[in-house]
Amino acid sequence: MSLIKKSLAFGFTALLAIMLLAACGGKETGGSDSGNTLETIKKRDKIVFGVKNDTRLFGLKDPKSGEIEGFDIDIAKQLAKQILGDENKAEFKEVTSKTRIPMLQNNEIDAIIATMTITEERKKEVDFSDVYFEAGQSLLVKKDSAIKSTSDLGKGTKVLAVKGSTSSQNIRKEVPEASVLEFENYAEAFTALKSGQGDALTTDNAILYGMADEDSSFHLVGGTFTEEPYGIAVKKGQKELVKEINKALKELKSSGEYDKVYKKWIKEG
Ligand code: GLU
Repeated sequence: MSLIKKSLAFGFTALLAIMLLAACGGKETGGSDSGNTLETIKKRDKIVFGVKNDTRLFGLKDPKSGEIEGFDIDIAKQLAKQILGDENKAEFKEVTSKTRIPMLQNNEIDAIIATMTITEERKKEVDFSDVYFEAGQSLLVKKDSAIKSTSDLGKGTKVLAVKGSTSSQNIRKEVPEASVLEFENYAEAFTALKSGQGDALTTDNAILYGMADEDSSFHLVGGTFTEEPYGIAVKKGQKELVKEINKALKELKSSGEYDKVYKKWIKEG
């Protein structure tokens, strides 16, 4: 074989090897395509949770340590402890309100624990655990704002919200005359509010408390105008996993572990 032919053959073999490796590795680190997610989790000995990375108090990544912290994170760790015997067996992948259901359907994650409200519409696509947190939608404005509740929103007011959230749908129903500006995630929406791109930011009170905590020139107004019960979502039909999660949640509540996590993160309300 000539040198050129030899190196071509080598290149081709290397390419094949890389393709094979890529096919085996896949991006499916969570979920299971057809089978039983709980069995897959037990075999893998890890649960892959989809969590927020930009939501103070629920799921916030510290850029220095790379650690993600918050109420949802601690509950996920406790679930891993109950189900697999070790809280370090919880693995985390970032989701946003818009990407969380598609990522679950693509088997990139086993479960979503990311400030997600249980709704009838979402129940058509995923299954939910029992309620593990009760929030309600509210408004965040600058402390000197004339807006005191949703009745001060109207034609000409700009409300900021996040794509894929119930908040964005609810505010359109509550105040159809106001214009709604949507962002990819809560970090972007809050940055936009701070830079004056809108008059108010709307989402769950629990999330807004985290923002007010970060910047004291903002506060919540008008109480809550919806109920947002949070649930842990899994792929539709994964009944055994839902059962196991609910059993673990009950255990966390009766052991006092849930209250400890609640007190650590939730001060208001
Ligand atoms: N809980 C609401 C929802 O599930 C708002 C928070 C969020 O965007 O995750 O849509």
